[in-house]
Amino acid sequence: MDGCHSHGLTARWQCRSGRGPSAAALAKPGGPVQLAAMICESEITFAGNHLDRADHLRADAAAMARLLADPSSRVSPFWHGQPLFDLGAQGPRLAWLSSADPLIAEGPEPAVFLGLDAGGIAHFAVDVSHLAQPDDTPAELPDSRIFIELRTVMAEMDHAETGIAAAAKGIFEWRRAHRFCAGCGGRNAVSHGGWRARCAACGREHFPRVDPVVIMLVLDGDRVLLGRQAAWPERMYSLLAGFIEPGETIEDAVRREVSEESGIRVGAVRYLTSQPWPFPASLMLGCAGRAESRRITVDPHEMEDAIWIGKAEIAEALEGRNDRIVPARPGAIARTILQAWVENRVPGFD
Ligand SMILES: [Zn+2]
Repeated sequence: MDGCHSHGLTARWQCRSGRGPSAAALAKPGGPVQLAAMICESEITFAGNHLDRADHLRADAAAMARLLADPSSRVSPFWHGQPLFDLGAQGPRLAWLSSADPLIAEGPEPAVFLGLDAGGIAHFAVDVSHLAQPDDTPAELPDSRIFIELRTVMAEMDHAETGIAAAAKGIFEWRRAHRFCAGCGGRNAVSHGGWRARCAACGREHFPRVDPVVIMLVLDGDRVLLGRQAAWPERMYSLLAGFIEPGETIEDAVRREVSEESGIRVGAVRYLTSQPWPFPASLMLGCAGRAESRRITVDPHEMEDAIWIGKAEIAEALEGRNDRIVPARPGAIARTILQAWVENRVPGFD
């Protein structure tokens, strides 16, 4: 890539193949480590949606229908929340069909307008769950085309397509949970290219929800606070996280969640990066926080365990060489933040 969109960096500090700055740049005195956290959007799975969402077209139902019918337009089918993928040598890629494809054309659900690419080609997604048989997938597909749960292939996908898939997945999750009006219980009808719902009974408009979640790198010098939940795979530990509650700032939520889950007090909080996480509607807000206490008191209702662990051991764990812990899987923002931290791309606290 030519530069880092999230930091407006010059070529000198540009991200290389989505892996962050070079070791030479990091080692340079006065380099970026002292300036700001260096986590680029190109490192964040589900970021990087390059489509122009073209909001001005959404309200124009005739334009939406015309674009959908255009043979050059591209449509991504989702089946029970799973996108259709083409499996090739380069890894799973979203399968883009035309709206005339029988898989798309016979569906009862209105399409979601995802936006226009740089060439003006319209992209849509369509829910084809009507094709489903219990425990079965649509039979007409070739072997190289398969519906796959997004989380299982997110780290192998083309980066830009993860962002597109996140938008579609988020809309379908919202639509599934908001078929009826929260005001009067009437039936909602989809409008605006799939980005609004209007109650047929009372006329109230409903908009897609995004639920903010804080996820935090709590630091005590060169140690980080990790926790695990009982339901997680054996030995998996990750950053603490939790939903922001009404009336809270991001900083408030970081301090409250860490205190509730581990008993640790957090002082200064800094924002690092974010990740759309459409399972079903989260926006992960990655932060760093300075620990003001060290004694861990785990709330057994929230966590099974919480530990302080050193940077060298985290580096081992990220390379699969640690016997004590396994970090979150590739594609999860917790892993991206930990990776950046062990590479000294996240400044500590003085
Ligand atoms: Zn209503």
